[in-house]
Amino acid sequence: MIVGILGAGQLARMIALAGYPLGLDFIFLDPSADACANTLGEHLLGDYNDPGLLAELAERADVVTYEFENVPAAVAEFLSAHTQVYPWPNALAVAQDRLIEKTFFHELGIPTPAYAAVDSFESLKQAMASIGWPAILKSRKLGYDGKGQSVLKSADDLKSAWALLEDAPAIVEAFVPFDREVSIIAARNVSGASVFYPLSENLHRGGILRISESREGDVMQAQAETYVSRLMETLNYVGVLALELFERDGQLIANEFAPRVHNSGHWTIEGAETSQFENHLRAILDLPLGATAAVEQSAMVNFIGNLPSTEDVLGIPQAHLHLYKKTPRKGRKVAHATVRADNPEKLSKLIKALTTLADQVDDS
Ligand code: AMP
Repeated sequence: MIVGILGAGQLARMIALAGYPLGLDFIFLDPSADACANTLGEHLLGDYNDPGLLAELAERADVVTYEFENVPAAVAEFLSAHTQVYPWPNALAVAQDRLIEKTFFHELGIPTPAYAAVDSFESLKQAMASIGWPAILKSRKLGYDGKGQSVLKSADDLKSAWALLEDAPAIVEAFVPFDREVSIIAARNVSGASVFYPLSENLHRGGILRISESREGDVMQAQAETYVSRLMETLNYVGVLALELFERDGQLIANEFAPRVHNSGHWTIEGAETSQFENHLRAILDLPLGATAAVEQSAMVNFIGNLPSTEDVLGIPQAHLHLYKKTPRKGRKVAHATVRADNPEKLSKLIKALTTLADQVDDS
């Protein structure tokens, strides 16, 4: 069985690593010659919209999936006309545009921050009258890791924030003074069976995820499962999906969802009975989904910008290091490590040891 993946970055890499024990082979399409999954399968080198390469991928792969949501609509349509593509392209259309995404949440009764569409400086000023301060201005498309976003604290910030967008369509949303950020990773297979992981509690800095901790038995688990089920059932979703949420006064408020495996679920490799990567493969191949229960408590720490010293990380005996084989670059996620413990005190000591190493290399 051959699985085709659009993209050959670290997510594709970890999907392939999870697929080897299941006897799967992989073929990647990625425009970068040194894409980090390229030694784990065959690499079709070229643009995502190269018709010849797309035809080859569709011809040779039994099923195609992707590691990023910004797959051009025409590419998803071409592939789905020629082979099986999961998740269905309808999930991409929603996740690629923050306005469509927020509207979709709203229609499903999933709470969101107050938001308004903005397509000119005038409309931004008007929207701020109803949204109130502080707020966040975000480009509707192609934003990730806080890119294309500005915090609006007062009317003085409006001009510079709008200029940064260069006239791209945007949304402005109320800034949520959240108590914490969580995400729920869920998987649904072709037959419609679903599983949910214990919540991840996430810490971001500068819009980039730094730490995710597993939260088995969290009080917000049931609410998060209700919301993510609604999303998956409505989209007839197949694969792993991550829903990112703010918690405020015991209520969850949706920020965004990713129709793919997610950084806040990397702890599942060592911290859950079945990893999100393996469950993504099981879901798209319509295999029984694996158990999602947490194995002890775990935490994942990202290394951003520069590589940590392998010796230093492995000097923490409980640490599991994942180097992505990516060339270090400012603000780039190049590795992560996961630690597990059977009690919160031990876990915080291990997290501290890892974050000390992460801070030494962090250039963001
Ligand atoms: P995003 O790219 O939308 O996931 O945003 C990246 C990070 O910015 C989030 O994980 C939050 O930490 C922060 N953020 C985004 N939107 C809001 C908001 N409406 N209120 C407060 N913080 C936000």
